[in-house]
Amino acid sequence: MSRLRFIKKKPIHKLAEILPEIFSQRFKKGDKVAVKLHMGEYGNINYIRPIWARTVVDALKSAGTEPFLFDSPTLYKKKRHTVSDYHQTAKMNGYTEETMGCPIIISDEGVEHKTEHLDVSVCNDIADADGMVVLTHIKGHICTGIGGAIKNLGMGAVSKKTKSDIHEGCKPVIAEGCISCGKCVEVCPGDCFKLAEGKKLEMDLATCYGCSICVLNCPAEALKSKFALFYTLIAEGASAVLKKLEGKSVYYINLLYDLSEKCDCVDTYNPLIAPNIGVLAGYDIAAIDQASIELINKKAGKKVFDLRHKRPSELHISEAERLGIGSREYDIEDT
Ligand code: SF4
Ligand code: SF4
Repeated sequence: MSRLRFIKKKPIHKLAEILPEIFSQRFKKGDKVAVKLHMGEYGNINYIRPIWARTVVDALKSAGTEPFLFDSPTLYKKKRHTVSDYHQTAKMNGYTEETMGCPIIISDEGVEHKTEHLDVSVCNDIADADGMVVLTHIKGHICTGIGGAIKNLGMGAVSKKTKSDIHEGCKPVIAEGCISCGKCVEVCPGDCFKLAEGKKLEMDLATCYGCSICVLNCPAEALKSKFALFYTLIAEGASAVLKKLEGKSVYYINLLYDLSEKCDCVDTYNPLIAPNIGVLAGYDIAAIDQASIELINKKAGKKVFDLRHKRPSELHISEAERLGIGSREYDIEDT
């Protein structure tokens, strides 16, 4: 059972008040502490506002540590695909060394860690840090249902090679037993299937996200992943990152604000689909993501992200628990 702090009122003030003491208990003076976050795609307006990161950085500095912000470039080719483009986008979104008061490192260099299905390339700057704060904006995500701390690490703290391995490894293959029900045609967000009357199912993966939704929804188990479902691979990515930090302190902060339908990689219209809730903070990656989903669903009165993405949003969290990197059991302390 993990205890999570829940802040509803004046969250910036409250974090500025409580974090210095929490950090001075968990980190040593002089520690190089990575703040892992997503600084927003160019054109996205729901990403983490710079004041949240600056509050974390100031608290780390007041605890005597040497923080730096970290993220990795994207696999897809938008305005964070290269290191220099990402720096430029971060600047446009308000993240500079001047506004943050610390270095901002963007890097794709990695160090290998083997998991059941992957040779994960964990970003060097994270692996070499003395500790980490995982600062996450909660939002919907096409492949996990919800984008939380597990997604922040499992996709965001690994190199492009691993990002590609994860998305490729869960693409579907057609196995035996298709009953031509058309469910995959209906649920696929990439329009990858065609089923003409009297013909066999056709599949074209050119626009496949590797989200596993088709595999999870096929009633005949006629679709299989190349080597594992997305939710397993993303949890393996996160577990590899945390293995590299074994014995070091990791603290999680989930921001339940600006709860958008899609992730912060989206550069087009991305509506908000649930009310603002507050901030969760604690030491357990599975507990904090589980609590985030449950608080959102409770406030919205429905399973917001499950409905949007046509499958449970907790699958990757239960995988994280199975891999031993956290427990979904938690209690909440109002702060
Ligand atoms: S959902 Fe499964 S059974 Fe139905 S058409 Fe697609 S592959 Fe065939
Ligand atoms: S993995 Fe997702 S995008 Fe790819 S074919 Fe299946 S449902 Fe479509």
